[in-house]
Amino acid sequence: MASQPDCLFCKLVREGEHVNAAEGFVAIEDINPKAPVHLLVLPERHVDTLRDVSTFEPDEAKRMLEFVADTARNAGLEDYQVVVNVGPRAGQTVFHLHWHVLGGGRPFE
Ligand code: 5GP
Ligand code: ZN
Repeated sequence: MASQPDCLFCKLVREGEHVNAAEGFVAIEDINPKAPVHLLVLPERHVDTLRDVSTFEPDEAKRMLEFVADTARNAGLEDYQVVVNVGPRAGQTVFHLHWHVLGGGRPFE
């Protein structure tokens, strides 16, 4: 889906500070970190939730997963958590698909 005018993460894709980037994907720091390292991986293309993962081409989906791992590696993380909240009852507050990458402290040391 094209960039959504009211979507916070579409805006951060366009003009945020990216700690990592690849074709189609960016990573940013979470504004309210829940761990010493808390990054968010965003597809540049607007997709509401992981429920819509089938809208990615197989190669794009593979590259997205590789980019999640690459972002963690670039941040110096060996052990880390990857979390995707899907839907409001699971804690999703921003409806542009994103992957939380959490690490760098207990219990991750
Ligand atoms: P969710 O709850 O949807 O899984 O995750 C949304 C995440 O976005 C939260 O961890 C929240 O701290 C983060 N967040 C909310 N607003 C902003 C913002 O303006 N900038 C950044 N970098 N992160 C944000
Ligand atoms: Zn968006």
